Amino acid sequence: MWNIDKAYIDGAFVPVQGSEVVEVLDPSTEQRIGTATLGNRDDAKRAIAAAVRAQKALRRTGKAERIDMLEHLSAAVLARTEQIRDVTIEEYGGPLARAQWVSQYASQCFAGAAKTLAAYDLTRRIGEATVIMEPVGVAGLIAPWNSTAGTACSKLASAIAAGCATVIKPSELSPIQSQVVAEALHDAGLPAGVFNILLGRGTDVGDEISTSPDIARISFTGSTATGKFIARAGIDTMKRVSLALTGKSATVVLDDADLAAVLPQALNVAFMNNGQACVAGTRLLVPRSKMKEVRERIAAIVAGLRVGDPRDPATAIGPLASKAQYERIQRFIRRGLEQGATLVAGGEGRPEGLERGWYVRPTVFADVRNDMEIAREEIFGPVLSVIAYEDEDEAIGIANDSAYGLQAYVFSSQPARAHRVASQLQAGSVLVNRIAPELLAPFGGVKQSGVGREFGVFGMEAFMEPKTIVEAQ
Ligand code: NAD
Repeated sequence: MWNIDKAYIDGAFVPVQGSEVVEVLDPSTEQRIGTATLGNRDDAKRAIAAAVRAQKALRRTGKAERIDMLEHLSAAVLARTEQIRDVTIEEYGGPLARAQWVSQYASQCFAGAAKTLAAYDLTRRIGEATVIMEPVGVAGLIAPWNSTAGTACSKLASAIAAGCATVIKPSELSPIQSQVVAEALHDAGLPAGVFNILLGRGTDVGDEISTSPDIARISFTGSTATGKFIARAGIDTMKRVSLALTGKSATVVLDDADLAAVLPQALNVAFMNNGQACVAGTRLLVPRSKMKEVRERIAAIVAGLRVGDPRDPATAIGPLASKAQYERIQRFIRRGLEQGATLVAGGEGRPEGLERGWYVRPTVFADVRNDMEIAREEIFGPVLSVIAYEDEDEAIGIANDSAYGLQAYVFSSQPARAHRVASQLQAGSVLVNRIAPELLAPFGGVKQSGVGREFGVFGMEAFMEPKTIVEAQ
C-alpha cells in the first residue's frame, strides 16, 4: 500500500502542507492501492522559491556541466526502468509493451538532450553582434495523467539542457508514478532546487505556478481547455508558454495501400495506450470503394485483440485509467449510435468476462460523418471512427476539417504520393507508412492542439532566450 505524503522540494522529500488526501485505485481491480496527500499553494511557493535559488548557479553553467547533469539523470532513471514500468501498469493500467516503452523513454530523453546540447552552439555571431542563448529562467512543467514519466522527464531534460531550474507538477491522478520518478531523479544527485516535484490540484498548485512572477516559463501538456486557462493565467507576468494539447488525429489510407498490412497498424495507433493517447489516430479515412473490405478486415482484427490484465504480455488493451474515463467512453459510444454511426466492433458495456476493472470494449464505428461528435471530439479511449472518402482531395479536406492538428498518419504504397498528401495535412507531425515517431524532431500541434514545440533542439530552445550584445568595433 502506497502512502505518499511528501513533496520533493530543495533536494529532499518533505511533508506537504496540504491536507487533501486522494485515494489511488488499481484500474484493473478497482482495489485501493494507496493514498496521496496533495500539496497546496504554500507548498508550491516553497518549491518555486527553491527553484529560484537554484537558478542563480544553474544559469552560469556551461555545456559540460549540464551534459554531466543529464547523464546522471539518464543513469538514475535507467536504474529504475522496471519500477517505472511496473507502477505505470499498476496505477494506470498501461499495457506491458507500452509501459515498457514509456519507462525506457524516460531515461533516453536525458541522453537525447545531452546529445542535442553537445552539438549546439550556445553563442554565435550574427553580423556585428554576439548572440548568447541564455536560459529563460525558472520553468513550471505541468503534466497530464496519461504519460507521467515520459512527459515529466522529457520536459525536464530540455529544461536542464537550457539551464532552467524547474517546478514539476504531475497530475494529481498519477501520484505513484510521480513518486517513483521523483525518487529516480533524486538519485541523480543534482544540486538542491534544480528540480522540485509536487502533486496538487490544477486550480491551486497549478494556478500558483501559472501565475507566479518567479516563473518565467510554463511547459504544459494536457487538454486544450486547461491550456487556455494556463495561457490566460500567464499573461499578467508575460510568461513564455508552450502548450501540448488535445488531438483528434486522422489516419489517411490511400487507395493504393495494402490493407492487410496497413489496417493492423491503423488500429494500433487508434488504440495505443488503451486509446488514452493525444496522438492516437482516432479518425480512419478510407476510400469509399474499399469500405466493405475495410469493415471485414477491421472486425477480424478487433476480434483478435486481447482485452484484459495489462500485466499479461498478450494483452493489447488494458483497463482505462479511472471510472470517470470508463463513463466518458460509454457516453461517446452512446452518442455515436444516437447520431447514426454503425458498429463494426465493440459497443457499450464491458467486455465479456471482465466484471471488475474499468475495461471497455474496443469499439469501431463506420458510417461516420466528420460532423458527428465522435469525429470531432477527443474521446480518449479505444474508440475509432471510420470515415469514407471519394478521392484524395476529399480525404485531405476531411483530415483538415478539425479544430485540432497534432499528429497525422498516411499510408500508401507510393512514397512520393504519400509525401505529397502528408505535406497538405494540417498537423504538427505526419508519420508516413510508420507509427513510430522520431523523438529528436520537433513535436507539437497546430490549431487547437497547441503552441510551440518540444523535443530535440526545438524543445531545448523553447527554454532559452537569445541575448544580443553588440560592441564597438
Ligand atoms: P488536464 O488538462 O485535465 O490536466 C493536465 C494537467 O493540468 C494536470 O496536472 C492538472 O492538474 C493541471 N491543471 C488543471 N487545471 C489547471 C489550471 N487551472 N492551472 C494549471 N494547471 C492545471 O489533462 P489530463 O486529463 O490530465 O490529460 C489528458 C489530456 O492531455 C488529453 O486532452 C490529451 O490529448 C492531452 N495530452 C496532450 C499531449 C500532447 O503532447 N499534445 C500529450 C499527452 C496528453
